Amino acid sequence: MPASLPRSLSGIQPTAESFHFGNYFGALRQWVRLQDDHDAFYFLADLHALTVQPDPAALRDRVHASAAQLLAAGIDPERSALFCQSHVAEHTQLAWVFNCLTGFGEAGRMTQFKDKSASTGADKASVGLFTYPILQAADILLYHPQHVPVGEDQRQHLELSRNLAQRFNHHYGETFPLPEPYIVKGTARIFDLQDPTAKMSKSASSPSGIIDLLDEPGRAAKKIRSAVTDSGDEIRFDPEGKPGISNLLTIYSAISGDDVDAVVREFEGRQYGHLKVALGDLVAEFVGGFGERTRVYLDDRAELDRVLARGAERAREAAAPVVADVYARIGLVPDARGPLARGSGA
Ligand code: ATP
Ligand code: MG
Repeated sequence: MPASLPRSLSGIQPTAESFHFGNYFGALRQWVRLQDDHDAFYFLADLHALTVQPDPAALRDRVHASAAQLLAAGIDPERSALFCQSHVAEHTQLAWVFNCLTGFGEAGRMTQFKDKSASTGADKASVGLFTYPILQAADILLYHPQHVPVGEDQRQHLELSRNLAQRFNHHYGETFPLPEPYIVKGTARIFDLQDPTAKMSKSASSPSGIIDLLDEPGRAAKKIRSAVTDSGDEIRFDPEGKPGISNLLTIYSAISGDDVDAVVREFEGRQYGHLKVALGDLVAEFVGGFGERTRVYLDDRAELDRVLARGAERAREAAAPVVADVYARIGLVPDARGPLARGSGA
């Protein structure tokens, strides 16, 4: 990969057996495109997934399933570093440094913690969930990326990363370039089919509100046909007034590649049911192909592990010197045994 390409970095949590349409159209599809003109690092955020205390066997399965889905989506491990966050110890090493630079009140203002802890109550949520955006800042800043492709839901976290980079640079000298959010053209925000005012989410949506990339095609089509729609009968794009229909139009546009206006024109004068049936067919075809490709990768888990190991090797080469530099700047005495002893090359 020529060194002149801008670097990009993004991660996704292996918190479910399958990624969903929001992940795909809000993130993964752009990850694939970015490979053409970026030196890209993509990781499975398995440490972030621990914040909700997953069952160990389920987590292992989800990591493999996630890797297989990223390959099926078109992530090319020859061009991009694809790795597990837990395989590169520098993520947690830098996270601790940032934990010590983040104010308690500052962390408390992150809205995702409020959202995610709402169901259990903040007292029952883990401290890991609370400090999650700080680990995320480490994930990002470790690689000095120019571009961080994220969905709209992650804007606030990226802002924290920028603040921490600035704070570190201010105290210890210019170390971290400020990462830019990179909302790529064609990025869509997808909403829950049963509650189109909430985003489609692996952990928060009910099964009928979410289209999984690994859904059985007939089931996926049925979910579209059973999606909540709005009062009235006119098909038009109006996210405020018609969140349900607008979400279906967004999904239609994302799969077909036609812009939303063209989709609206196509269905002008027709009923909600027509749109649902047509979209159900599109979705079924899409998940059918995606599922087949994923199963091929999942059939060879040893190869998946090899792909992740190669990715971790590349990631470590980039990350180890950054942590060494940070440790030196903040006044930690260098380990006389050399960088290998810190776990960065072990
Ligand atoms: P969780 O509920 O476990 O947080 P998630 O569904 O929010 O899962 P993440 O792994 O947190 O998924 O996010 C992966 C990527 O998918 C991020 O870049 C995020 O912005 C994007 N993303 C998640 N949900 C949506 C959505 N509904 N629409 C668009 N993009 C989304
Ligand atoms: Mg999320």
